[in-house]
Amino acid sequence: MSRALIACALVLAGACAPPAGVVTLPVQILDDLSATSPALHPRYLSVVEPTSFTRAVERGTRTRTGQPGPRYWQQYARYELSASLDTATSLLIGTGTIRYHNRSPDALKRVALHLYQNLYAPDAQRNRVVAVTGGIQIARLAANGMRLAALPRSDTTNVGYRVDGTVAWLNLPALLAAGDSIELYVQWSFAVPPLAGSPRMGQDGEVFHLAYWYPQVAVYDDVNGWQTDQYMGTGEFYMGYADYDVTLRVPAGLLVVATGELENESEVLAPAVRSRLERLRAGRGAVDSGIVHVVSEAERGPGRATATGGSDRTLAWRFTANQVRDFAWTASGKYVWDAARVSVGDADGDGDGEFPLVHALYRPQYTLWRETARYARHSIDFLSRFLWPYPYPHMTVVEGLAVGGGMEFPMLTFILGAPRDSVGMQSVTLHEIAHMWFPMTVGSDEKRNMWQDEGLTSFNDWNGSVEFFPGISPATLMGTSYYRTARAGTELEIMRHGDHYMRDAARGVAAYDKPMVALHALRGMLGKELFMRAYREYGRRWTNRHPQPQDLFNTFNDVTGRDLSWFWRTWFYETWTNDQAIAGVQRSGDRLLVTVEDHGLAPMPTRLVITRSGGTTERAEIPVEVWLRGQTRVVHIVENAATVTRVEIDPERVFPDLDRSNQTWSP
Ligand SMILES: [Zn+2]
Repeated sequence: MSRALIACALVLAGACAPPAGVVTLPVQILDDLSATSPALHPRYLSVVEPTSFTRAVERGTRTRTGQPGPRYWQQYARYELSASLDTATSLLIGTGTIRYHNRSPDALKRVALHLYQNLYAPDAQRNRVVAVTGGIQIARLAANGMRLAALPRSDTTNVGYRVDGTVAWLNLPALLAAGDSIELYVQWSFAVPPLAGSPRMGQDGEVFHLAYWYPQVAVYDDVNGWQTDQYMGTGEFYMGYADYDVTLRVPAGLLVVATGELENESEVLAPAVRSRLERLRAGRGAVDSGIVHVVSEAERGPGRATATGGSDRTLAWRFTANQVRDFAWTASGKYVWDAARVSVGDADGDGDGEFPLVHALYRPQYTLWRETARYARHSIDFLSRFLWPYPYPHMTVVEGLAVGGGMEFPMLTFILGAPRDSVGMQSVTLHEIAHMWFPMTVGSDEKRNMWQDEGLTSFNDWNGSVEFFPGISPATLMGTSYYRTARAGTELEIMRHGDHYMRDAARGVAAYDKPMVALHALRGMLGKELFMRAYREYGRRWTNRHPQPQDLFNTFNDVTGRDLSWFWRTWFYETWTNDQAIAGVQRSGDRLLVTVEDHGLAPMPTRLVITRSGGTTERAEIPVEVWLRGQTRVVHIVENAATVTRVEIDPERVFPDLDRSNQTWSP
């Protein structure tokens, strides 16, 4: 093993700083740039900063270091919601009081509410096929006790509310001053759509997944103001942080699980179920490799799993949650229930450790689900070590979803009943649970920047799967659809609104696969320790806040002390690809002249590994700065040519090179 010997030709010119600890042999550039390298790279060395972000920097709410600015602010809301679900008619009726706090410096004339259920209204704009169930009916809307009348869509002046697709605009009776709050009251109802005709929620026979089920205040943020992009089915969500106190009335016998903590366990759960949960919380009672069967198949139903209910045979389940960006729930009388306890370290910083419970609820015919509590426990354990401790009191995984693999909500995820196999079951569980970090804790805009939660989550879950299934090699990243799409030339860039990808495949690659591949390359380039320091610092700075893409880019630049603008620009804003090649090798006396060419438009450092007879290896790194200057060809000199048995570019497959057939040479 050879150790650091750094001699980049550009070091002498001060153009590149050698990364600490990387073994780098001399790289000599023989070609004259102007004379022999006519195919110069494009040179984009800066990240695009939208003018809205520039203005936020000027106002002091954002910075160019990735820290929230000294004047950063964020709105807040407190929801008190009550709903009853009639399982015979699939009708949900709700009432709610929302206390909305205006912490912005602006007086607000209007407040926007999301009515996500209008995705299912006949006249909704949609970019996917859904069941038309009529959407949401608003029976009453009031602001500070004053009833608001329904207005025509175009009426922006009179007091009242107007519905525009999945958004309701409330024209307030008086300005909502900076620092003030307003109380909104709403009564609503909707028919729960069938799961098969609904992305992310709905009814599947005896299972009710209730998400996007209440009017939710839209985000008003310091960069873009009101964010009221329509919910069209594909692009996901941008949600503000809030406290919730929710009471859900359903027929007795249905188990209800939700975002938040169950406040009235003794009123709704049967004594045997409660005592199993109590023993588990106390660290006792774990059998069967730590998994407790809280409700078995024979114990389902009223009087066995749940209390029997009053004269109307219903039960009201009360949940509370603080500092979460949404509230969802599931109810079913057909579920069995497994649970486990997991240690996450000191999540709240009070000096001792937290032990949240993980729950898996599923219909017993879905046999792959018997392992789900175990997968969920590993997911929480892994991610708490990989990122930072899981911050919520429980994590609950429930079975039943028709479209896609799973959908995430704070502390809760809906997952397909029958993934293809146990690897699929484990990986989708891990993926959805990884969303508790991004976007639940780090609350980015999933619609405008899908990658900022899906891409980071894909990177995190892939790392967890590598740990869980030790047979998975990092080279499996080579199998991701990024490579197929990039080779086919059908890629679209990562920095694009989630509703503006014309093809599902292009959206999947841009939001999930390519950012995962890019982060893997970035970690390989920076080294694990420095990468993780920057990655966790981004999370720390933006916990329960709303980062823009620039906040992530700037945090990495800030923490690593390197200007990575070229990296963000190349991989996130463009569809350029990377292809480095050994173009030729010549013997010159006792030296080997290795010609390396950069065929793609996306530059990365070039890592050469030279193997000698006897099996020793040496490493040389052509710094990315060489390619960034515009150079497309470099000749690297290897001494003692006679003993060289192999030269290879990037054998660890750190960088996303599209053509690996041109990366090795042997005499
Ligand atoms: Zn996801």
